[in-house]
Amino acid sequence: MLRKSVVAMAAILSLSVSARAEDHPSRPSLIVAISVDQFSADLFAQYRSTYGGGLKRLSQGVVFPKGYQSHAATETCPGHSTILTGNRPGHTGIIANNWIDQSVARDDKLVYCAEDPTIAGSSSKNYTASLQRLRVPTLGDRLKAADPASRVIAVAGKDRAALMMGGRGADQIWWWGSREFTSFTARPTTPVVEQINSSIAATVSAEHAPFPLPDNCAALDHPVAVTPTTSVGTGQFTRKSGDYRGFRASPEMDATTLALAGALIDEAGLGRRGHTDLIAIGLSATDYIGHIYGTAGAEMCIQMGQLDTGLGRFFDRLDKAGIDYLVVLTADHGGHDLPERNRENAIADAERIDPALTLPRFNETLAARTRLKAPLLLGDATQGDLYLRRDLSSAAKAKVMKAALALLRGHRQVAAVFTHDQLRAAPEPAGPPEAWSLLDEAKASFDPERSGDLLVLLKPRITPIADPGAGTVATHGSPWDYDRRVPILFWRKGLAGFEQPLGVETVDIMPTLAAEIGLALPKTGIDGHCLDLIAGPATSCPGK
Ligand code: ZN
Repeated sequence: MLRKSVVAMAAILSLSVSARAEDHPSRPSLIVAISVDQFSADLFAQYRSTYGGGLKRLSQGVVFPKGYQSHAATETCPGHSTILTGNRPGHTGIIANNWIDQSVARDDKLVYCAEDPTIAGSSSKNYTASLQRLRVPTLGDRLKAADPASRVIAVAGKDRAALMMGGRGADQIWWWGSREFTSFTARPTTPVVEQINSSIAATVSAEHAPFPLPDNCAALDHPVAVTPTTSVGTGQFTRKSGDYRGFRASPEMDATTLALAGALIDEAGLGRRGHTDLIAIGLSATDYIGHIYGTAGAEMCIQMGQLDTGLGRFFDRLDKAGIDYLVVLTADHGGHDLPERNRENAIADAERIDPALTLPRFNETLAARTRLKAPLLLGDATQGDLYLRRDLSSAAKAKVMKAALALLRGHRQVAAVFTHDQLRAAPEPAGPPEAWSLLDEAKASFDPERSGDLLVLLKPRITPIADPGAGTVATHGSPWDYDRRVPILFWRKGLAGFEQPLGVETVDIMPTLAAEIGLALPKTGIDGHCLDLIAGPATSCPGK
């Protein structure tokens, strides 16, 4: 009986293998992993009916409209660290963009996620790029370990996006500096990078006329006052000559990143050498536009159209080159519109953070309460991770902790405060990400060595920018679904499309891609699970 069932099982397995072989006559020769910074599931849903280019093509593939960056710290660096590692930030070690490390020789003790803080004279703003903080390998690292002839390239509008998706073993990692694409100082440039950089210099030296306003954007094209003297909502990315910041926060940035990605694919012969290659692409303009103009105005509408067109052009280029590529497109986090427009758009309780909660002011309140000298807590902001100053006595630490918990837990804008001990003791999150508790989400970005003594989570619809006058009007970073939900889209020529509306995680992307290219993974140490990309009884995942 046992023998019979083993034989039957073997027959089923061989059937599923041959069914898979029919669906996928060969493995893709190139993985194209794209992250669109701040491309929330809400933006994807809002604009889906308008797509006619690359996003239309991806919308007809295997679509997970409710992917999750499942963790609480929905920032760029943690988000990108999940996409190609299969691990949540608690295990990638990338708990935030910046965090406090009281062992470094810096006054503010702030370290950046993708730097080497031991370099003399460096700071979290002026640093040397490094991957030393990433605790796990990327898909590219695993690919090259299995086949050293595979080539891995990463290119992005932000260093942390390129670095976290590329990994230590990548052959080339390029990111936008302030005026050109750059890399580690020790690595040489290439002819196509030089060519693109000089064409950027020529482009930016000329002014840019406004992008056209598509018909579907007309209803969004009205001003929303942010301060008595500033408004957003009607921008069309008109750029003066020499304005590199304007270039970066416009559709021009993504078009240039895609042009460089295409040129690097050609230059390195990716996907045409009989080995599986990988290119990771980080498109950052959506994020800059979301921060500067918000997510619901004419600016974002124009960007969505330009992104769709730009991706279409990029895929056409790969088609013409005859490359058999598998695309995955997702985002590092979602986003939230500015409270001033949210209030105009039916969300009456949207508001900015109470200035009393900004870290310098909160530290003064704490000092007055405890009769100790400010600052007592270190952090990047009064939300997220906060650290007790380590030169305080144990008695002073206990006093500060008690006072901080009482003040924060009594504040009307604070949803939850977790202590380091609470988070360390919490079980690893499991089950559908749409059903997680705040503690589950916080645990997913908790690293016992790097996380704070306290983790502060604000209530939904609170924008943690007290003063929008400096130019950043909206943001992300919260544990709420508008910041956690991102689309996850897979497309390959010949792959039958289907849509799965239930929640899956961005950590599922790496095991899914590994299965598609026949890369074996260890049984433990990876948070994500392979997603079966074949509609029907066959499966693309191993061991199922
Ligand atoms: Zn981001």
